[in-house]
Amino acid sequence: MKNCAVIGAGMAGLAAAAELKRAGVETVVFEKSRGLGGRLATRRFAAGSADHGAQYVTARDERFQALMQQTVFAGHATGWAPTGKIGNEPWLVGLDGMSGLVRPLAGGLEIVRQTQIERIGTTSEGYALQSDRGPQGPFDAVIVAVPAPQAGPLLKAHGRPFDEISAARLQPTLTGLFAFDGPVPLDNDFHPEPAAGIATAVRNSSKPGRNGAECWIVHASHDWSRHNLEADRDEIAAKVLDVFRRLAGDLPPLVWQSGHRWRHAAVEVSLGAPCLVAGDRRLAACGDWCLGPRVEAAFLSGHAAARALLD
Ligand SMILES: Cc1cc2nc3c(=O)[nH]c(=O)nc-3n(C[C@H](O)[C@H](O)[C@H](O)COP(=O)(O)OP(=O)(O)OC[C@H]3O[C@@H](n4cnc5c(N)ncnc54)[C@H](O)[C@@H]3O)c2cc1C
Repeated sequence: MKNCAVIGAGMAGLAAAAELKRAGVETVVFEKSRGLGGRLATRRFAAGSADHGAQYVTARDERFQALMQQTVFAGHATGWAPTGKIGNEPWLVGLDGMSGLVRPLAGGLEIVRQTQIERIGTTSEGYALQSDRGPQGPFDAVIVAVPAPQAGPLLKAHGRPFDEISAARLQPTLTGLFAFDGPVPLDNDFHPEPAAGIATAVRNSSKPGRNGAECWIVHASHDWSRHNLEADRDEIAAKVLDVFRRLAGDLPPLVWQSGHRWRHAAVEVSLGAPCLVAGDRRLAACGDWCLGPRVEAAFLSGHAAARALLD
């Protein structure tokens, strides 16, 4: 294998691409958005920033621990121990936004941004990708590192084992992002499942390096999100704010608000296998949906996909 395309620049795709590059494979990552990190996401606004996807990561596997140590050492991540934190594991956040957590993986990679891959075709020279910006490739191998509902259609034409992708299920999350002109009257910075309709409420401005206004991220519960899924960005913000008021009572004046729809947020049912690889070991699929609803699972899956193609 001389060259490989990786589709998706979230934790899984970048973990795969970094491993391939380390092994000397010419690797090109295609990402449909402007930014890197996928669900490790941060929205900037005039008075600060807000992490509207994953809130923190934990590291249990020694390979992910090593990466996180390196990331902290490089100044792209740090510990966060909010009041109300649950469990004894250390929590890490990216600097100065959550995508800091993928920066060491992305360094030195060829990443083609704002390019959505729409089809993976085969030719006598290898895999030919069709993107919204025209044809890409050919490539000797391809790793698809996007959420299962998006991986399924891309890999449908390639048969087994990719028909298994439909067994993975992801749940939606609607998120409200709020900055206030003063402190919200809640004692804790982190509230897991604090009220009906809310999964987590987080004082984003309590994270290291997030200077600026008092800022809260409120993730609605999956059921509530499913029920309100087609609301637009403004409606999401208004509706989640109403739910947040039930928890926090009288709120200070808002200085900024926004909403975000994560159609595929959290893995509900995973495959229970690190990745899927076609028989000829040239086409693979990976992502958190293979192993579980955590950033670390995405990393382990991406790493496993690259190793499966290399070994
Ligand atoms: C609201 C929320 C809260 C969360 N909280 C936590 C938490 O606190 N801790 C934790 O560990 N995990 C949390 N998670 C889960 C965690 O974010 C994910 O498990 C992990 O980031 C998934 O990484 P991934 O690489 O598998 O997928 P993604 O991050 O989704 O990356 C996939 C990438 O592929 C790109 N893409 C998709 N289709 C195409 C295409 N056709 N062509 C090109 N590019 C494409 C996308 O733009 C994206 O960048 C949370 C997730 C959400 C949404």
